[in-house]
Amino acid sequence: MEAPKLNEKCAVFGVSLRTDEAVGITCNGLLALQHRGQESAGIAVVRQNKILCHKDMGLVGEVFSGDKLGSLPEGRTAIGHTRYSTTGGNVQENSGPFVTEYLTGRIATAHNGNISNAPEIRDWLRGNGLQFNATSDSEVASSLIAYHITKERDILQGVVKAAGFLRGAFSLVIATGKDKLVAVRDPNGFRPLCIGRNETGYAVASESCALDVCGFEFLRDVAPGEIVVIEKGEIASHEVMLFQKEESRGLCIFEYVYFARPDSVIDGLSVYDARYNMGVALAEEYPVDADIVCGVPDSGLEAASGYSMKSGIPLVSGFVKNRYVGRSFIYPTQSQRDIAVRQKLNPLAANVKGKRVVLVDDSIVRGTTSKKIVDSLKSVGATEVHMRVSSPPFLYTCHYGTDIDSEENLIANKMDIERIQGSIGADSLGYISIKGLKQACSKSSLDFCTACFTGNGLSVRAKKDVFE
Ligand code: 5GP
Ligand code: MG
Repeated sequence: MEAPKLNEKCAVFGVSLRTDEAVGITCNGLLALQHRGQESAGIAVVRQNKILCHKDMGLVGEVFSGDKLGSLPEGRTAIGHTRYSTTGGNVQENSGPFVTEYLTGRIATAHNGNISNAPEIRDWLRGNGLQFNATSDSEVASSLIAYHITKERDILQGVVKAAGFLRGAFSLVIATGKDKLVAVRDPNGFRPLCIGRNETGYAVASESCALDVCGFEFLRDVAPGEIVVIEKGEIASHEVMLFQKEESRGLCIFEYVYFARPDSVIDGLSVYDARYNMGVALAEEYPVDADIVCGVPDSGLEAASGYSMKSGIPLVSGFVKNRYVGRSFIYPTQSQRDIAVRQKLNPLAANVKGKRVVLVDDSIVRGTTSKKIVDSLKSVGATEVHMRVSSPPFLYTCHYGTDIDSEENLIANKMDIERIQGSIGADSLGYISIKGLKQACSKSSLDFCTACFTGNGLSVRAKKDVFE
């Protein structure tokens, strides 16, 4: 069986409008959500009971460059997806949205999350004669939903039935050939999903920053376990609270630490505030005598501000980030990752020479980034580098969090904190405590999943092997 392909940090977006501009708006929405996935992008639009889809590998601006956006007709209902894949899974067939045809209609599905029982569902659907083009769990979800829509002869009932069989993390946005837009968030609420409104209709997005950019007023988050149906630019039903909560772990806390954009508000808490609070907590937990505080661009910057405010040590830019190079984290080999980090972050000698630096980053996963940037600060004359990290040590592979496929690759799994400090060349090292992290995010309306730090409750596989 193929290894499951994880889609935890993808973005989904969808609109249901009273005007024919769904494709253009969806493209803008995806641009605002680009940080959640850079491997592939796609848009599916409903036009006269048909669904037309354009998707390809690449950034949103590349996939929809020139007249490629115009190759899709305009419509009133559209959905979009950007994909973040792990090594090996980034092939075109796995990019979203997935269009699934069934006996009486068709749907397009965009998914963020990881469906843990996708292999069992795929086997069962295959046994029922369905075929699959991709290895993605998102395609499996789309097929199961289509199967149950056909059986129930009703879109909402079909989605309710199918979603009840899915386990794991799923924020779904579905467009139907009948011009309905459906939003679904799993009962734990692992991944974010929110709704916005303006005078032309509704939008659903992974993060509120996309609503802002597209001119929709934030209405609310989709609740864990909720299904919302939007039709002709109106909410048709939102009282459907599905399946029972068999566990309630809540939002992946790494959304606040790293995944989301700081200008988004998730489940009532601003991502900026959460990160700032993490920096405050770090200053309380690991104070140090130093001259300047520097954040690692981009996702360490807000926590660095919090650390600086709480400690009274001035905040200074320690690096210039090259905006035009890609992500260093996802390169397959260590030597490629090393070069990429150096290309991306160049130390600002004028600011750090002769200084004792507190260096704040959001996470240490393999340890590649920290080692490189500690070395580079020292190479331009920093006298001491004190590393502070706004997430606790990553000890467990998490299929709902970071894209590490094996625990051997997690530095905190191989070494204790003192050895990590030595290995990255820092003069001291402090990771935020789980308590401090939860406290920093305590204004969120949901509980959190912290399984990658604690190992608690990693298995959410269903024992079931019949899905009807
Ligand atoms: P390391 O270099 O230790 O392997 O990874 C830590 C760095 O990668 C941090 O700077 C953090 O911002 C970033 N990072 C952490 N988790 C992820 C992830 O899941 N995906 C990507 N692309 N970057 C990550
Ligand atoms: Mg980073």
